[in-house]
Order: sequence, then C-alpha cells, then structure tokens
Amino acid sequence: MEIMSEFRQNKATKEWVILAPERGKRPQDLIKVRPKRKPPPPYRNDCPFCPGNEDQTTEPVLVLPQQSNWQVRVVPNKYAALQPHLTATRSWVGSFLAAKGFGIAEVVIEHPRHDQNIALMELDEVTNILRAYRQRQVEISKNERINLVTIFRNRGPKAGTSLEHPHSQIIATPIVPPHVRYPMEQAVLYYDGHGSCVYCDMVEEELRQGERIIMDSDNFVAFCPFASRSPFECRIYPKKHMASFTLIDDEEIVELAWLLREILGKLHYSLNDPDYNYIIRSSPIGDENTRHLHWYMVIVPRVTIRAGFEMGSGIYINTLAPEESARYLRETEIKR
Ligand SMILES: [Zn+2]
Ligand SMILES: [Zn+2]
Repeated sequence: MEIMSEFRQNKATKEWVILAPERGKRPQDLIKVRPKRKPPPPYRNDCPFCPGNEDQTTEPVLVLPQQSNWQVRVVPNKYAALQPHLTATRSWVGSFLAAKGFGIAEVVIEHPRHDQNIALMELDEVTNILRAYRQRQVEISKNERINLVTIFRNRGPKAGTSLEHPHSQIIATPIVPPHVRYPMEQAVLYYDGHGSCVYCDMVEEELRQGERIIMDSDNFVAFCPFASRSPFECRIYPKKHMASFTLIDDEEIVELAWLLREILGKLHYSLNDPDYNYIIRSSPIGDENTRHLHWYMVIVPRVTIRAGFEMGSGIYINTLAPEESARYLRETEIKR
C-alpha cells in the first residue's frame, strides 16, 4: 500500500510528527480492530467508589452538589505514589539529585453509578465534575510547596486503569518537569519574537484553515491539531487567552462541559467506546496570569501503541491525517 508521508511541526512545542496515512485507509479501518467493551453492572458491592462503600475511601475533601446526596466525591488517593506528609527538600545521592516523594494525589469519583460515562451523562453532571476539578486546583494551588497540578482521566486498560468506576485523578507535584518546562520556554521565545501567545495564534490559524475543526462554541474550540501525534487526538482550547484552568468562570465551565461531552460522545459512538486519556494542561502555579501560556485539554483515544521509534526519537508516526480524523468526528452524530 502506498504511503504519502510528511513531517509536521507543532507550532507551540516545536515537536515533529510524521504523518504517514496509508492511502485508501479510512477511519473505519482503525475502528474495527477494537473489541466491544463488556458493559459493567450499575453497582458493585466490591467497588470502593460505589454508594454504600463510602467508608472504604479516605474522608472526602470535596463533595458535590451536597454531602447528603453526592454526585462527585473527591478523596485523597489511598494508593498514591506521592504523599502529602513528606517534605519537598532536595537531597543528593552522590552527585545524583533526589527528593522525598512529596505531592498531593486525589481521586475524583465522577458519579454514583458504576456504569456511567461522561459521554452519556447529563450536562449538569459533567459540569459538576469540571467544577470539582477547578475547586481542587484552586485549593491545592495555595500550597506553597506545590508547583504543578495535573488533572487527568484514564479510561480503560489501554489508558492505564483497570478500575471501571468512572473517575479521574489530580496529581500535584513540587516539581515542574522538563516535559512541561520545555514547551513553556518555547512559548516565551515565541512571545518575545511575535509579541503574542503562540497558542492564541495556533487557535486562530486552526480556525482560519478550518479543516481540522470538529466543533466550537462561543468561548471554546475543539480540533484535531495540525501536528497530531495519533489518530483522533482532540484538543479543546479556550478561544480567549487564559493561562490557567483555574480562571475559567461559572458560565464558561458549563460551556466547556457541553463541548467536552460532545467530543467524548463523538468518540464514544464513532470509535465504539474507546480507551482514552484526557489531560488538562494548565500553567504552573504562579504563572496563572502570564501572557505566553494558555491552558487546554488534550484527549487521546488509545487506538495505537507507542513503539521503539517513538520512544527513541520522540517523533510520533500518525497513520491517519488529522483532517480525516476531524472530518469523521464532525460527521459523527450522537444518539444520546
Ligand atoms: Zn463502582
Ligand atoms: Zn493564549
């Protein structure tokens, strides 16, 4: 099969991807390989996140909409790799740098029902999940030893979780790793050169070109980026400049919940409920008002596997053009 390949560069991070779509391969061809997920039961006696088992988790740090009738519970993660009672002090092992495993790790239990799924929830339920994210990120950001809050969701074994109950996670670290710092440095250089936020410019360019847009609303836009790393990679950006997710207001959060549910709904129906990760990438703490950073959500359906070349070079090979991914998702109708 003939392959028409090209390199593409991510405008913001300067990362390269190789776009190598096999001619004649359609989005449907990637989907058929996924076996149908076995539907879980609505409740499980042995699930620590199901109603009736609240005593099996640590005391919640947040409950929405109210304690007596919870929809969202945020609890400290019992099995976390990082612990809040440790210090953030660096230490040396010979000439090697180390630090105690200080950090904050929380689980956001998204719904009482074991078999629920954001793609199928009511709008106010999705909004409550996002409100919980915002409230916890604001609260955790007050900790002077925390520098980065990462909010993410793993759905399914290929995305890194075997826990069926709908949940997402918040991990806050004292460290800002190179993976986050490097794109920030690129964004500063871009700002110095152009006098504008590279993400604002990227969003504007995607809107102008149009062919990778899935859908948009007044304040947000969802698209498959020009330099997508994998098939059906989706991003949601606020259209106006905003460096931190904590700055989203009450009206915008409802709008974001709607758009997120639309995108996850499209993935759910067109890719047969795929395993996926999503991540909210927000500025490190202290940079909330900076002019060169811009928060966004990235949604990555796990339809391909990262192999040796990707690990070795950091260059991802994407076998489906984002223009095709976006067109397919745009045309997917949601039968909610
Ligand atoms: Zn459960
Ligand atoms: Zn911006």
